Amino acid sequence: MSVKKPKKIIIVGGGPAGMLAAIELSKTHEVQLFEKGKTLGRKFLVAGKGGFNLTNRVVGAELSANYSPNSLFENALKHFDSSQTRSWLENLGIPTYVGSSGRVFPEKGIKPIQVLNALKERLCAQHTQVHYEHEFVDFTPKKIRFLHMGVLVESSYDSCIFALGGASWSVTGSKGDWLEIFKEKGLQTQPFEPSNCGLNCAFPIDFLKNHVGKPLKNIRISCQGTTVKGEAVVSSYGLEGNAVYPISKIVRNALKQCQQVSVEVDLKPFNTELQLLQKVTPKTLPKNYAYLFKLTKTQIDFAKAHTDKETYLNALLFAKALKKLTVPVQGLRSVEEAISTVGGIDSEELSSDFSLKKIPNIYCVGEMFDWDTVTGGYLLQGCFSSAFTAAKAISNPTPNRSLN
Ligand SMILES: Cc1cc2nc3c(=O)[nH]c(=O)nc-3n(C[C@H](O)[C@H](O)[C@H](O)COP(=O)(O)OP(=O)(O)OC[C@H]3O[C@@H](n4cnc5c(N)ncnc54)[C@H](O)[C@@H]3O)c2cc1C
Repeated sequence: MSVKKPKKIIIVGGGPAGMLAAIELSKTHEVQLFEKGKTLGRKFLVAGKGGFNLTNRVVGAELSANYSPNSLFENALKHFDSSQTRSWLENLGIPTYVGSSGRVFPEKGIKPIQVLNALKERLCAQHTQVHYEHEFVDFTPKKIRFLHMGVLVESSYDSCIFALGGASWSVTGSKGDWLEIFKEKGLQTQPFEPSNCGLNCAFPIDFLKNHVGKPLKNIRISCQGTTVKGEAVVSSYGLEGNAVYPISKIVRNALKQCQQVSVEVDLKPFNTELQLLQKVTPKTLPKNYAYLFKLTKTQIDFAKAHTDKETYLNALLFAKALKKLTVPVQGLRSVEEAISTVGGIDSEELSSDFSLKKIPNIYCVGEMFDWDTVTGGYLLQGCFSSAFTAAKAISNPTPNRSLN
């Protein structure tokens, strides 16, 4: 029986994608994980602060439909989908449960730091060497260079996986400042842009004075044919929240084409226009709106801010307007503030196993290449699936590099 020779594998970037790849590969290979910060998984912990969606309940075509470019992820998700993420976490001692929205969380009582520690413990148990404060600065197909405490350190490898993250929340280490290094190697890159982010809208000062931080619950937001139900939060710059983030992609594309963009907000998605109109009597006045239409003060003032005086004072017109308030959007929040970014290594540079077509023993996984999805666990799932697929390709290379 032939025994496969272990390979020397370097993984750069200690976020969830890099850690998963390291855990998978260190079962059978010599793995060295390099991270420029002093700790692993800083953005993973940030994600943990606001409802830790580790993946989403959906599987199969329903899952892959959430990713673009879809063809890359269709393949990756075949190898490692949301059910495999859950089993993989369970195997690390992190059971999960599905919340009412389909999002998958660590079981109640398990803190984000415990999830991170479980990953770190497994790395340690499998003898992965972790090198902190090593910032990657250059590479060739055989060697990679890091800056460590002002000194250049070089290491050779059989295969290398880059998992450098996107460019938002730079405090976590993901700055995207490595893009130039790849460009210089003749690889196509795309500038980083915000995704899953808030919308800049010019709300009247009076409205902001009273409502910043207040939610608009159970609403529907639509933009150019895409409709999302959920919650938005009024912020000093405009709108944020789970009903807003999926719209940011449409807004981004429209703004690129210099289009004027607005979103339509339906404050009563569970009522038809007719049902709302039927509540109105000849005696209905604005002071009755809260009770009659079951609206919060924030919803009423939001509707008032986005209707003209005649509409606001006429109960029938107001009832109709509640279903379709037009909110002009001036722009997206910055890359720094976004939950995720698009841009990075152009996805055309990657084969279906996430290796570089031009340098096939180098792989790019996680948020660092140009792909997009929505919030709700899909981001981490995309990071896990791409990292797993690359790890599998290194462990079981196929002559034509196709994993199908
Ligand atoms: C506020 C917030 C909430 C989120 N919530 C969720 C959620 O609930 N569910 C979900 O699915 N996703 C969520 N995300 C997104 C998710 O956290 C990211 O998509 C994910 O962390 C990306 O993983 P990654 O491994 O690709 O990159 P990262 O986690 O960004 O890790 C990249 C690592 O590479 C290191 N690095 C960068 N450059 C170098 C270099 N030159 N040399 C060496 N190391 C380097 C960085 O220091 C970093 O540690 C959230 C993100 C934010 C900001």
